[in-house]
Amino acid sequence: MSKDLQFKIDGLKASVDGKEILKGIQLEMKGGEIHAIMGPNGTGKSTLASAIMGHPKYEVTEGKVLLNEEDVLEMEVDERALAGLFLAMQYPSEITGVTNSDFMRSALNARREEGDEISLIKFIRQMEAKMKELEIDPQFMHRYLNEGFSGGEKKRNEILQMAMIDPKVGILDEIDSGLDIDALKIVAAGVNAMRSEENAFLIITHYQRLLNYIKPDYVHVMMQGRIVKSGGAELAERLEAEGYDWIKEELGIEDETVGQEEEFQVPMNTTGPKL
Ligand code: ADP
Ligand code: MG
Repeated sequence: MSKDLQFKIDGLKASVDGKEILKGIQLEMKGGEIHAIMGPNGTGKSTLASAIMGHPKYEVTEGKVLLNEEDVLEMEVDERALAGLFLAMQYPSEITGVTNSDFMRSALNARREEGDEISLIKFIRQMEAKMKELEIDPQFMHRYLNEGFSGGEKKRNEILQMAMIDPKVGILDEIDSGLDIDALKIVAAGVNAMRSEENAFLIITHYQRLLNYIKPDYVHVMMQGRIVKSGGAELAERLEAEGYDWIKEELGIEDETVGQEEEFQVPMNTTGPKL
């Protein structure tokens, strides 16, 4: 069926507050593949995730994002989720008054046809099983969404959501930040358990560490809002050993960040001596 899943980011450009951050991203994933996007801070990685998901702050100015030939950029945000996109966020929001289980049941049912909602019993069984796999305290089911969760707990909760929803394309933005090594292994095992020919994952990370546990098929390095280098898993290993400087040297890049230009400009309204 969706064995021939295809996800293609084609010449994607996006701006924030009128500043261009993504400068033409090209990337293609097929069912069963895991791609990693690596890069130093401020190079546009989270912007890429947000632009794909349709965050209103990010204005797509050019390009397409095709999921099985359908342009998700033409869809409303909720339609993108229904089409099978899921983003595990770098900074998940806290929502007071909505419990984790309420949130997840709504999220699941929103993806099903009316009249085909998941039964409460079935839902609870599924959620309990996944929570056990991810070693999440069962009490978290009844806690308000992410409220008072530690950084690591929020990240595990994002993976729990992803495991429940079972998306076609899962994008994980710095899921490893704030995780100790044990939590990292649990999260990685959760993702590995979901892997199939029917889905693909885009794993955004600063560090190679996570990729010891989730083996990527392809690694892409982002700088200045572009993918500047792609390779296999060995590229991540070299980055771990040598950092990012060799890529900058190779490409003659001095500042790898994007969208910060005005910080380096001479201030216009300084009250210096008048000539
Ligand atoms: P990364 O995830 O690689 O660290 P980001 O995509 O978060 O990088 O940010 C890249 C640049 O885009 C930032 O340095 C900033 O200039 C700009 N940017 C991203 N998101 C916003 C935002 N919500 N508001 C203003 N500027 C933003
Ligand atoms: Mg980021």
